Amino acid sequence: MDVCVENVFTGPAIEAINVIQATADEEKRRAALNRQCGSQDKEDPRYGGTGQETGAQSPGPADSAETPRTETAAEKNPWSAWAWLGMCKNSSRRIPNIVHVDVDAFFASVEQVLNPRLLGKPVLVGRGVVASASYEAKFRGVRTAMSFREALRICPKAVVVPGQYEHYADFAERVRRILETYTPAVETAALDDFYLDFAGTERLYPDYQGTLRRLQAEIFGRTGLNVSIGAARTKVVASIASRLERPRGFRVIACGEEEAFLTPLSVEKLHGIGHVHTGVLAERGIVTIGQLRQVPKPALQAAFGEAIGQQIWERARGLDGREVLLPSTPKSVSRETTIEGGTIDTEFLGGLIEYLSERIGSTLREYGKQARTIGLRIRYVDQFLAHQTVRISKPTNDERELLVTAKDLFGRLFTRRVAVRLVGVSVTNLETDKRPHELFDTNANRRWYLNRGLDSVRGRYGWNAVFYGKGLELREHYATKPNGLVLSTPCLSR
Ligand SMILES: [Mg+2]
Repeated sequence: MDVCVENVFTGPAIEAINVIQATADEEKRRAALNRQCGSQDKEDPRYGGTGQETGAQSPGPADSAETPRTETAAEKNPWSAWAWLGMCKNSSRRIPNIVHVDVDAFFASVEQVLNPRLLGKPVLVGRGVVASASYEAKFRGVRTAMSFREALRICPKAVVVPGQYEHYADFAERVRRILETYTPAVETAALDDFYLDFAGTERLYPDYQGTLRRLQAEIFGRTGLNVSIGAARTKVVASIASRLERPRGFRVIACGEEEAFLTPLSVEKLHGIGHVHTGVLAERGIVTIGQLRQVPKPALQAAFGEAIGQQIWERARGLDGREVLLPSTPKSVSRETTIEGGTIDTEFLGGLIEYLSERIGSTLREYGKQARTIGLRIRYVDQFLAHQTVRISKPTNDERELLVTAKDLFGRLFTRRVAVRLVGVSVTNLETDKRPHELFDTNANRRWYLNRGLDSVRGRYGWNAVFYGKGLELREHYATKPNGLVLSTPCLSR
């Protein structure tokens, strides 16, 4: 289709230059892509570019996953001596390393897992408007952000649930932990939306597609949630690929095939292009990404502004400079909770402080940190606030040591005969975790091993798999969820 966009966006004098420049740009880019993707890879020497050379951000080329080719001995048996010597042809090729994992109908699916009676039924989550709809409801035409009135008119048999947000955070955390067992580079883009970077894992996972399929099956097996997976060289293509065939979508876009994949798709599939931009483009007869690619960059910049025009031009080509961002290391960790109506029961408050200290210890170990300063905060029912911090001589992430200090602070702060409404523990002055080297301090060593054991059991079976004595009493007051207790204030702060 001929697209005469130039007439709309730019004057005739610049038009000709733009087109020539765009064509030249296009050719250069194609040449660069071909070089990167190594269409000459077939003749590549065996030792050429191993997986280790793959930079975490570099858009790595890969062999077309669908192209049938003869397997080498090393590929047939990736554990053979040939493979270990780097003779594996696979390892010299790069993979579409950015993987987008998106949980299908997240809130509604969690509700179905928590209450199996909802399985197979249309479920709507939210208050007033649909925050999430199960696929049973989506197939009947219900959409997210629709009013309940409209949704129930389309799907009168839908079950409406208000939503249990603390459970959603837990499930998201469980999914993230599973993803982290495959690659340490996991970015949480939204609660149920993750980007992974598999660059440099070619030898670890010789069967890349099989690994991603296994990942999808493992998340379902361990959480009951279906996820859609898309893999490509860039975030924008990976996210389009994962969203294309939901639920349980699975698409791997081989390097060099991005443009062919994007060409027939509608422009609204491009992440970052809103309804307004889609409308402006549609007015000019641009409906597919392939048509959008024919528009010169300066024309897009003239229509949408320099930055957005540039972004649209890049995205239409599957280009995206965004990297998979790793979670930043916290500067402090705090956990606090409110007690409905308040209490002066020091045993109960002690139990809560113990639980909060445990959570902090676990978070510190997760980030490989130790804390040197510990603080405690209590607020009475009359809003009187007491807060104190103390610096300890030896930094720690052992919850027992944190607890001793926190309880000591509580003894100092709880001086009034008034019920306490909020209690919180915090740690600051974080340092890198160091294993105790004290040869004769067997207690510290024992605690170190015990805590790591505890973390690994909880990582696998959930928080409630192991708890200290006081935790038993708290369970009489609070409901439990897979990742701990359901406190009045969800402990989500970092
Ligand atoms: Mg989702």
